[in-house]
Amino acid sequence: MQPTVLLKDFKLNHTKIREEILAAFLTQSEPLSASEIKELISKNCDRVTLYRNLKIFTDKGILHQIFINNQETKYVLVTNQSQTKKHYHDHIHFKCVKCELLKCLTDQRIIIDDLPDGFKMTDANFIVFGICKNCNK
Ligand SMILES: [Zn+2]
Ligand SMILES: [Zn+2]
Repeated sequence: MQPTVLLKDFKLNHTKIREEILAAFLTQSEPLSASEIKELISKNCDRVTLYRNLKIFTDKGILHQIFINNQETKYVLVTNQSQTKKHYHDHIHFKCVKCELLKCLTDQRIIIDDLPDGFKMTDANFIVFGICKNCNK
């Protein structure tokens, strides 16, 4: 997958910064924070431009956000485009407390069917902290 193809697929105008942001995700398999992305792209991209583009990508469903805590948000490239945006927002995230691995567990869905009458779920953020398979050996 090429950044330019992704931009085209999502009907976004091509800019050098957008291409660099997507290229950063395509070369890293790990979820990235805004500051990590900033390290990977050219120095002349200011924070405002970076955040604006991250928001556009998130709104379009190219990226999805993992809220780890109030200070830390990571972004993941939605690689499997056949999965609907909805699906991507209701799965569980796992964070390893030993090696810091952060993973989308897209098969582990958050299903809440007992909300009070008249309440409707539109989004969910659920993060499980623990020990990953590698650290558990
Ligand atoms: Zn681990
Ligand atoms: Zn995820």
